[in-house]
Amino acid sequence: MTKKIAVLPGDGIGPEIVAEAVKVIECLRREYELDVEMEEGLVGGAAIDATGGPLPQETLALAKASDAILLGAVGGYKWESLDISIRPEKGLLGLRSELALFSNLRPAILYPQLASASSLKAEIVSGLDIMIVRELTGGIYFGQPRGIRTLENGERQGYNTLIYKESEIERIGRSAFEIAQKRGKRLCSIDKANVLECTELWREVMINISKDYPDVELSHMYVDNAAMQLVRAPKQFDVMVTTNMFGDILSDCAAMLTGSIGMLPSASLDANGKGMYEPIHGSAPDIAGKDIANPIATILSVAMMLRYTFDEFEMADSIEQGVNSVLDANYRTADIYTDGMRKVGTAEMGDAIVSAIIRNMWNKAGGESSGSDRNCVRGGNFSNDQD
Ligand code: NAD
Repeated sequence: MTKKIAVLPGDGIGPEIVAEAVKVIECLRREYELDVEMEEGLVGGAAIDATGGPLPQETLALAKASDAILLGAVGGYKWESLDISIRPEKGLLGLRSELALFSNLRPAILYPQLASASSLKAEIVSGLDIMIVRELTGGIYFGQPRGIRTLENGERQGYNTLIYKESEIERIGRSAFEIAQKRGKRLCSIDKANVLECTELWREVMINISKDYPDVELSHMYVDNAAMQLVRAPKQFDVMVTTNMFGDILSDCAAMLTGSIGMLPSASLDANGKGMYEPIHGSAPDIAGKDIANPIATILSVAMMLRYTFDEFEMADSIEQGVNSVLDANYRTADIYTDGMRKVGTAEMGDAIVSAIIRNMWNKAGGESSGSDRNCVRGGNFSNDQD
């Protein structure tokens, strides 16, 4: 049966990077007969401008009726003065909570070709491959009560609530254990159990459910130490599982170990494997519309979609190999550019990846080709021997 993808480009660089990811999906439809259809919807600032709200009913209905969602990014200077309740980011939070996307998978992988782009020494980061599993629909970002109130003495006080039920902790814990079983079988749970009762419970639940995963080695770390260890010796980690806010911060930190925030995809899954796939970066309004944004994180988000929602492992591999090939051929967008490399724009990078996917396919098939790359690639001609 044809699967449906809701395509939500959003704001800033969102439309530019999503266009490149759509190019890859179109190519897979033609070359691998990927049976999907796509429908576009509005979210974030673009939706506010068109409808007055960041998550229109039509978009929510489209997302609910789809098997997977491909999202660019939301937000920008234009909407910063709006009340927090109707800002673009509310569209994203609304999608996550309405679709119960509680498990956020954020891989931090260092491509060997980019070892010099990391802010850490190559020997500390080369071969890095961490998966951060972040709880996404609970914790302090959603906890009630919240707000800013005025005290009796007239001083204002801001407050939020960090809150987790046992069932919420167990749900994300099991998701993380299952991912660890498919990887290096080591899970580190990050908390602040020495100070926060809520994460004392978090640790207790993790220990309880670990009995069901005897093949996975569970360890615990306080979040401040985890931040330190991520920049001191990041390769000690395999899978990390943590709360919504800790995961938000630690995954951005892990992202920088890899050289650029423009390289990292993410998946947000519900209990049935339905997912929203998006780059971990934001809408980058500072570079929007200039054809310089890196589309790789969004294209790799499609690979995650194929792997985690559609069970199309070969196609997921082919996208990742395509990215590897263009990096081998020294194609670099500005954010990962170093001297001697070939600097390309957003669209040229997307075209090069599509060409590489097709070229790798021909090579695997022993040189047979459908010849349809001429239809897939809008511009430039990807070549392995360019420098
Ligand atoms: P950001 O991730 O948008 O940008 C941080 C820096 O990284 C900027 O210098 C930007 O130019 C660069 N950058 C980001 N993505 C890039 C890419 N693909 N290629 C090259 N460079 C890239 O974070 P920010 O500046 O803190 O936020 C900008 C807006 O995005 C805000 O409105 C924020 O609320 C929103 N935001 C949205 C999401 C999301 O939609 N998931 C996530 C984070 C921030």
